[in-house]
Amino acid sequence: MINLKSVKNPMPEQKPEVRARNFKEVAEGYTADMAVNEAMRCLKCRTKPCTKGCPVMIRIPDFVAKIAEGEFEAAYQIISEDSALPRICGRVCPQENQCEGRCVRGVKGEPVSIGRLERFVADWHAEHADELAAAAADMKNGNGKRVAVVGAGPAGLTCAGDLSAKGYAVTVYESLHKPGGVLAYGIPEFRLPKDIVAAEVKKLEDRGVKFICNAIIGRAESVDELISEEGFDAVFVGTGAGLPSFMNIPGENLLGVCSANEYLTRINLMKGYRDDYDTPVPKGTRVAVIGGGNVAMDAARCAMRMGAEKVYIIYRRSMDEIPARREEIHHAIQEGVDFQLLRNPVQIVGDDEGHVTGVEVVKMQLGEADASGRRKPVAIEGSNYIIDVDEVIMAIGTRLNTLILDTTQDLEANKRGGIGTDTGAKTSREGVYAGGDAVTGAATVILAMGAGKTAAKSIDEYLTKRK
Ligand code: FAD
Ligand code: SF4
Ligand code: SF4
Repeated sequence: MINLKSVKNPMPEQKPEVRARNFKEVAEGYTADMAVNEAMRCLKCRTKPCTKGCPVMIRIPDFVAKIAEGEFEAAYQIISEDSALPRICGRVCPQENQCEGRCVRGVKGEPVSIGRLERFVADWHAEHADELAAAAADMKNGNGKRVAVVGAGPAGLTCAGDLSAKGYAVTVYESLHKPGGVLAYGIPEFRLPKDIVAAEVKKLEDRGVKFICNAIIGRAESVDELISEEGFDAVFVGTGAGLPSFMNIPGENLLGVCSANEYLTRINLMKGYRDDYDTPVPKGTRVAVIGGGNVAMDAARCAMRMGAEKVYIIYRRSMDEIPARREEIHHAIQEGVDFQLLRNPVQIVGDDEGHVTGVEVVKMQLGEADASGRRKPVAIEGSNYIIDVDEVIMAIGTRLNTLILDTTQDLEANKRGGIGTDTGAKTSREGVYAGGDAVTGAATVILAMGAGKTAAKSIDEYLTKRK
């Protein structure tokens, strides 16, 4: 039976006035009844447009049909054929541009809530299945080959998981003190609880994957040394694109200015929001976050939760061009974040002691479309004014770190400055593979995960042929 309701089953959420001051997860998840009811909205389209919108081509109509029948474990197994991290992707994928963006139910009404259904079955599986038994059953006898994975973000974790399931001995090197990459240090607890990330890491450890943290490859040891000295048969590089960018405007060195990267790392990875940790975190009462992407929304929503009285998002285009996910913008507005749109910072101003006191902005208007197809913001001369703040967080994007490129022989860059690869994640250096943000520049969790899967397949083919 098909449910003809034109709107999604709403997601139960913490009330905005309550959640704006705590770090608990905002979305509480569908109940089984809600999930079945939502799954019944699917029309089982034969052409599967939703699957074509998913970067890893999950068999969406099939898993949704299983939910409608109440067969939750079967639904999980279908998703797992293509996704290593469904609990995470169900929460953070930009579904509106991917699977749900192609759903035919979206033409007249709202699409089927594919992300929420994916999250529901993945959480259901985690609660009900015996993960240890599953991991043990998954583990093949060792094949005697060793692979090093550099970087423990979604790309590295996925590559490690797929290779260990094929019998490779995998060691993951991570420069921070905890694995997870952006999932651990960037995306806040209220969007992605850290126990979910820790459970994914634990699953890999139970399969025999070894994690070495606080190890910066390119400094402590190079990729070349991993092969020549440590004897690894292949290396996967998934080091992300976490180097913060600044605007290069006057005042960026004032006290009270920091990058979103540093701010979020202190809060998420170093638990700066908890009283039982003594991690220093800037706590402004009036905070300006510069930028309009997911990182800016996360920083602004964290600032609210850290006790700020006023939090501004300052973005140089309008709401039509803002790149953050709609859901994040909606949540930020509900929580009281003030959007100052068509405004561009020209300088950060401070007092005699070097503390931030404000951001000088100029009003903007939209001109002709630029190379990206978006209308170019143009400054309105003489429209400058100062927004009074005591903390500024720069969230205007991140860059690739070139450490691995600079320290690995014969490793070539691509046009974007990332590590160059072919479609199978193979680099110019034999035995070295790469994927995720380190290749593409800042992108998404699901693309990084897909790249990790592609690389694992290529590494397996390479090492199988080489014997
Ligand atoms: P990363 O997750 O960056 O992991 C790379 C890892 O490599 C890091 O742990 C790093 O410490 C480690 N490393 C780096 N250099 C070295 C070295 N030399 N030696 C050893 N280890 C090293 N995407 C979404 O799909 N949805 C979202 O809602 C979303 N929100 C985001 C919010 C924030 C705040 C940020 C920053 C990003 C967000 N993204 C989101 C983007 C997404 O998280 C990334 O595209 C994804 O994590 C990339 O995965 P990765 O494995 O390539 O790299
Ligand atoms: Fe949609 Fe992401 Fe799941 Fe693919 S992985 S079906 S894009 S939520
Ligand atoms: Fe179901 Fe939408 Fe996919 Fe059609 S496009 S099969 S309605 S999820």
